[in-house]
Amino acid sequence: MKKPLQLYIHIPFCVKQCTFCDATTVTGDSSAKAEYLAALQRELSSALPALDEFTVANIYVGGGSPTVMNPDALGKLIGWLKESLHLEHRIETSIEVMPRTVGVPSLTGLSAGKFNRFSLGMQSSNPKETKALDCDYNVYDVQDAVLFLDKFHARNVNIDLMYGTPLQTPISWKTSLRTALDFEPEHLSIYPFSKDAGSCPSQVARDEMDAITQDYLKHNGYERYSLYHYSKPGYRCQHFVNRYSGVDYMGFGLGATSYVDGIAYGNTGIYADYVSHSDEFEQVVTDVVQLDETQQKKQYVINNLHLTRGVVLEDYSGRFGAFLDADFSDCLDHLNSEGFLAGDDTAIFLTEKGLRESASVFAMFE
Ligand code: SF4
Repeated sequence: MKKPLQLYIHIPFCVKQCTFCDATTVTGDSSAKAEYLAALQRELSSALPALDEFTVANIYVGGGSPTVMNPDALGKLIGWLKESLHLEHRIETSIEVMPRTVGVPSLTGLSAGKFNRFSLGMQSSNPKETKALDCDYNVYDVQDAVLFLDKFHARNVNIDLMYGTPLQTPISWKTSLRTALDFEPEHLSIYPFSKDAGSCPSQVARDEMDAITQDYLKHNGYERYSLYHYSKPGYRCQHFVNRYSGVDYMGFGLGATSYVDGIAYGNTGIYADYVSHSDEFEQVVTDVVQLDETQQKKQYVINNLHLTRGVVLEDYSGRFGAFLDADFSDCLDHLNSEGFLAGDDTAIFLTEKGLRESASVFAMFE
């Protein structure tokens, strides 16, 4: 049986750089975008023999803002890729969509890629707050995008929100949540703002926002299944579930990272190098690291603790031929006694306190 693998395709182009974003991004005209897609096609073509060993579990096209590309060209590229691979039945094919670029021409062009999940950046419903983040879109663009996606019968839509951002208050955050839910998304990704800015809310206010989030989403039928992700029943994102469960992944495109058989590596983030050498594996790949068994175990535990179901003991034993309790007894005892972890006969998982202070928990395994 072929091993499962996730694919990530990176499209680095954005209209402009938002202040909070650490993604590998570039700006460029239509000829640069065509040049990039040609380079991506060369990289994917050269990887097809290696990909033949796997069954692809899901495909995620992220960025950057993939929908600033020529939608016909991008749709055809993903359609060609899917026809060239062994795919699991009815796989999730997800794309990040920049609200202002969604319309009839873009969704028609993208349809060749048979995308079945669409992820919209919104961050906040307050235009002053999105402006403070230098976003090139606001809630009105999201509203238009949702209407177009609905017209195209998109049935799996995610909205990204961010809390703790400059100018935000617990009341404005609740308004953002309420507005997002008015758009009836199947999935929400909610990330904490991690930069240091003078106008950011206090830690007390951030804690209040976190409490509001948990109460409001639960009350409205969204299940929290990971540290940052909430969904209606049946709409968990396979990209995140597989990534946190430890399914290997290969990334393609500028700066994309991969993790296969305990080896982590990344593509160059230098644009000129990537487009010149995308069909030459050795010249594009950088930072190859072989993780030893202990490092692989730690990484596996950290990843799985991102899921609210936690680390499944049987899965850990099946993967490593060892027992989680024996491998990390001191660490687990300490985290249990501090109230960060709980467990039963089948799994260990983060408590409410552990979810709030996850960075401290993960640091214990590093
Ligand atoms: S549009 Fe998205 S990818 Fe581009 S800079 Fe802003 S947040 Fe980052």
